[in-house]
Amino acid sequence: MVKLNKLSLQGFKSFKNKTTLLIGDGLTCVTGGNGSGKSNLLDAFFFVLGKNSAKALRADKMEDLIYKSDKGGSESANVELEIDNSDKVIKVDEDVLLVGRKVNKQGQSTFRLNGKVETRQRILDLLREARIGPEGLNIVAQGDVTRVLEMNPAERRQIVDELAGLAEFDEKKKKSESELNKVEEILKEQNLLLGEKEKIFLNITEEKRKAEIYNELDNKIKRLKFSIVKTRFDESSGKKNRFSERAQDFEERLAKVNLEISSMDSEIGNKEQEIREITKTIYKGSEEVGIIEKQEKLKSEILRKEGKIEGNDIEISRQEKLIEQVSEIEKPRGVKVLLSKDGVIGTAEQMIEYEIKYKDAIDAALGSAKNNLIVNSFDKIDFYIKYLKENKIGTAKFLPLDKIEGQIIEAPKEKGVIDVASNLVNFDKKVGNAIEYLLGSTLVVETLDDSKRFIKKYRTVTLDGSLTERSGAVFGGYKKKGFDLGKIKKEIDELKVENKELLEQIEKQEKELEEVSKEREKITQKYSGVGKEIEDKEELLKKIRERRRKVYERKLRLQNDFGDEKMKLTRIGMEIKQSEEELGELDVFDEIEQGTIPEMKDRIVQYTRESGALGLLNMKAVEDFEQYRREYEDLKEKVEKIVEEKYAVLKVISEIEGRRKETFTKLFDLINDEFKDIYHKFTGGEAYIALEEEENLYSGLLIKAKPKGKRLLGIDSLSGGEKTVTAIAFLLATQRCKPACFCLLDEIDAALDRENTKKIIEVVKEFSDKQQYIIITHNELTISYSNQVYGVISEGGTSSIVGVKLNKK
Ligand code: ATP
Repeated sequence: MVKLNKLSLQGFKSFKNKTTLLIGDGLTCVTGGNGSGKSNLLDAFFFVLGKNSAKALRADKMEDLIYKSDKGGSESANVELEIDNSDKVIKVDEDVLLVGRKVNKQGQSTFRLNGKVETRQRILDLLREARIGPEGLNIVAQGDVTRVLEMNPAERRQIVDELAGLAEFDEKKKKSESELNKVEEILKEQNLLLGEKEKIFLNITEEKRKAEIYNELDNKIKRLKFSIVKTRFDESSGKKNRFSERAQDFEERLAKVNLEISSMDSEIGNKEQEIREITKTIYKGSEEVGIIEKQEKLKSEILRKEGKIEGNDIEISRQEKLIEQVSEIEKPRGVKVLLSKDGVIGTAEQMIEYEIKYKDAIDAALGSAKNNLIVNSFDKIDFYIKYLKENKIGTAKFLPLDKIEGQIIEAPKEKGVIDVASNLVNFDKKVGNAIEYLLGSTLVVETLDDSKRFIKKYRTVTLDGSLTERSGAVFGGYKKKGFDLGKIKKEIDELKVENKELLEQIEKQEKELEEVSKEREKITQKYSGVGKEIEDKEELLKKIRERRRKVYERKLRLQNDFGDEKMKLTRIGMEIKQSEEELGELDVFDEIEQGTIPEMKDRIVQYTRESGALGLLNMKAVEDFEQYRREYEDLKEKVEKIVEEKYAVLKVISEIEGRRKETFTKLFDLINDEFKDIYHKFTGGEAYIALEEEENLYSGLLIKAKPKGKRLLGIDSLSGGEKTVTAIAFLLATQRCKPACFCLLDEIDAALDRENTKKIIEVVKEFSDKQQYIIITHNELTISYSNQVYGVISEGGTSSIVGVKLNKK
């Protein structure tokens, strides 16, 4: 504990000259006449310890503290307190501390510590460490002894708070609370953010779920589509094998028939030779031989040519059937279905005919429009479209004859220009508008170089099928041919030409034969009887020829059937090719779905409906999900950490409060015990302290006192002396529990009778073993207990201290 060594004053109030009050151990009494300046000493204490209110120092203004006199006052008021700090309670590395304060005539204060200027606050902070301060309970100004009773309960409780050092807890708690506020602020912000992020996250989770379902359905649909085409492919492949075997069988049978025919042909040849031989022998040297031979030759040639025509006709009809079937296959499904509907005339392609050399050019000029449907009336189109939609069978483009308008450009008369495409095709007048609409503004030219000249003027196609739009866009290159219909058409034309030529030849030869046969008739009559052998042979020959004709008919039937088979085979081949092409465009799956094709189609419809029901989709959700999830989880984790932080701070606050409560309660109980004890000692009565609200440490402090033999009444109803005793008992109780290094009491005994004075001074005396007591008093009894007494005297308005150290009891 620190100790006060001395208080020095100069120019302070009535102390003009430098005056020193030595403060020894134990009890120091200061006495003197009224107005001598005793209380000015107490003011000097207040002043040097930093009290800032002039009123509290019993002056109007600070400069009034400076010594004033008619004979000339001082320039400044100076007070210095010397403190023994050898225990280093005050955290300054000095054994002796000199705390000084000076006020000048302008009322300005200067504080010093060991001669060095310091701020008031620094001085206050340092002294607080030794529990020395201007507001302490240990300094009691004159007439202020009962101050503690006049305070309001809250102020009173603050005295206990201060003694218990609760400011430290409150400071910590305040810090923690401000930390808590910050954390809560951040938490609020982050929670808001988290709420937003959570919304976004939940949204993207849902979007991801839908996108995944969609992907799953899409995959199923793709798998089904693949499975359908693969099943078709497998089925067609199986059929192809079967038909190939049958084709082989046909070939074998045909070979056999051919063999039969050729053997008959040689038999016929032999018979004819025999006839010729006999004829030669019979009509040797005569001109009749030539006629008979000619007749035979003509007959045989006509027969051969007729056979050839018959064979060609069968081939022509087979090829034509094939063309029909192939173009049927190549048509889009929607178009195929609608072809049979009322009011549908046919596709553009079906309506035209042209020379084979223009095929590539016309194909290019038409492009996909070859499948445009020419229909009678615009009004029916609505029905066709509805039909396609409801049955989900593709799309079609319509050219209604009652609305469509065609026009034909004029072909420039230039080298390389062939004609307008519509002029190169034949069509029924009825569909003229539609065909002219499609082909009337396209020029057919020879080469791409020719096309170049007409860019921006005409749409052109070259003979080899390159198309140049008016814009300059060119389409050309190798076109994969599904089936070379052109080649087949060419073959048909050739066969037709051949048949025509054969017919002409037959006609000619038949006339010739007629002539020759007449000649022959004459010969027969002339040589009647002679030619009996020949006639017999001819009869035989006729029979063989008849047999050969039957076999040949069989061959034709076989050929016809074989043709049908081959067509089927071709058709299957095309189906396989088409399936292969489709497979090439589809995603490949290792395993195919089970079930029939209609079942699979039903499932596609069902999955398509399900995926349609998913509504708007965000396919990026699957990809973005992870990032959103991570952001959300990170923020959630961050928020959880802030919450943990909040609870940690709350825990600290609760611990601080716990320790504060413990510290307060401990001191409170101690003071209460001491107060009860001291009061009882003083009065024989009972007194105690209590909180206004028992459990609320922040509620006010009440002092209750019941002097002996009296009822417990309010403090206000106590007598002046009783109040003083109560207040002193409380003061001493606090000093016992938390002793200040000194107590300075100004005339606290003024209102007390001797008996009370005695009891009190005895307790003070007991306490002064541990702390220094300075009592300003007129009371001799009090003085008699002192260790040293000083007298204050005033001479001519100037105070001075005199006195001797007493060494009596
Ligand atoms: P009492 O026993 O009656 O309480 P006291 O000894 O405590 O008297 P103080 O109150 O200490 O007396 O001193 C008051 C005296 O100090 C007054 O006479 C007053 O004129 C004088 N005094 C106060 N301020 C000044 C000042 N600035 N200059 C000179 N004298 C002053």
